[in-house]
Amino acid sequence: MREKGRLPRVGISACLLGQEVRWDGRHKLDAPLAERLAREVELVPVCPEVELGLGVPREPIRLERRSGETRLVAVESGRDLTASMLSFARSRVRDLSALGLSGYVLKARSPSCGKEAVPVLEDGREEKTGRGFFARALLELLPDLPVEESESLGEPAALLVFLERVRSHEARRRG
Ligand code: SF4
Repeated sequence: MREKGRLPRVGISACLLGQEVRWDGRHKLDAPLAERLAREVELVPVCPEVELGLGVPREPIRLERRSGETRLVAVESGRDLTASMLSFARSRVRDLSALGLSGYVLKARSPSCGKEAVPVLEDGREEKTGRGFFARALLELLPDLPVEESESLGEPAALLVFLERVRSHEARRRG
């Protein structure tokens, strides 16, 4: 009964809402999307890199293939953040699940948030074959959650379909 009347909760990469959390201290506000979503759902902003404690501004990070595995690596220092990000991401996704999420909107091409075709450095070349490590945990732990990248929601029809999936998920979740 406590949940009656509240809007469905949807997680979102915090930079898409205008929060200045990117590595260079900037944001990636998608104003039309943010405004439309805010009318329909309760948004839950998350910046995995800031919440991991990397700070703002911070050394940029990227995906790299090392010994046949995709790793999350700081560009200048070469520090390998794979284990710490995966551990954080799994714990954060469990916390988000407990909030009763019914959808998630991710920032494309991010080594943390990107859902698909994230650049991976291999043998000096970038291949668009990766998935961000936060997105990886989200999709593994909550496989039924409607999850899209913001860029795929630019068309009104695509956004309507996503919102319908969110409402269906919310209805199932509430039983
Ligand atoms: S893409 Fe994700 S990790 Fe990068 S700034 Fe945005 S919310 Fe933070």
